[in-house]
Amino acid sequence: MVYKNYLMQNQDCGYWKCLKSIKLKPRVEVFWWRVFNNAIPMHDFLYQRRMQEGFICPRGCGVKEDVEHITTNCGKLKEVIGCLNKWGFGISSFQSFQDCWKWMDMYKDSNGFLVNVYCNAVYFVWRSRNKFIRGGKEDCSTFMASSAVSYASISYMVDENLGNWGTNQSFRLLDRWYPPPPNWIKINVDAALLKSYKAGIGGVVRDSEGRFLLAYGHSCTHWDISKLELMAVHFIRQIQKEWMQDYNEIAD
Ligand SMILES: [Zn+2]
Repeated sequence: MVYKNYLMQNQDCGYWKCLKSIKLKPRVEVFWWRVFNNAIPMHDFLYQRRMQEGFICPRGCGVKEDVEHITTNCGKLKEVIGCLNKWGFGISSFQSFQDCWKWMDMYKDSNGFLVNVYCNAVYFVWRSRNKFIRGGKEDCSTFMASSAVSYASISYMVDENLGNWGTNQSFRLLDRWYPPPPNWIKINVDAALLKSYKAGIGGVVRDSEGRFLLAYGHSCTHWDISKLELMAVHFIRQIQKEWMQDYNEIAD
């Protein structure tokens, strides 16, 4: 409610325009809104409010965990960006949050997809950090990098002018992901539907170590979400590649 209220009053501010134009998924958008408002419970944030004894990054980076750290130079984020750059994404490395924001603002129109991928990467790295401090295991970097690409692919797959998602949307693609057995590839498919019946189908192909192999997306017009999901599965035939024959099985 606070977030919504705030937005009503601040539609014109720079970072908000930027976040809107790069079409982040709602939960990633809220995360970034909190980043810009210094409202993320990082160690330094809690330390300053006497709610935490230390201010150092819990991952052992050895430096203060503040907005600068979680958005630009945390070791884990660098690993994820390294993966993305290995796949050809070409994301620069930033010295400060100011640098990062300048870059986002500069590319939001010409390469919003890339900015979207970066914002997702920061979001997934933060989510994994929370899992880690609660005693769980961190997600692996390739998994986070491929998830960042998948999120961005889904947002950019649907017609640019349509704005809001309909109530029939389904975003189950990344809720939980279990790797297939060795030498298998796994294809996760998803479909999304807008009120105008404009729809998108897409999928992500990964191997048994969660490595991103391929993503596809296609937009169409439809009204039935279950039919759309079936279409997303059938679409696999069109993207089937020769190298897929090198794997033993395909899990769907
Ligand atoms: Zn760190």
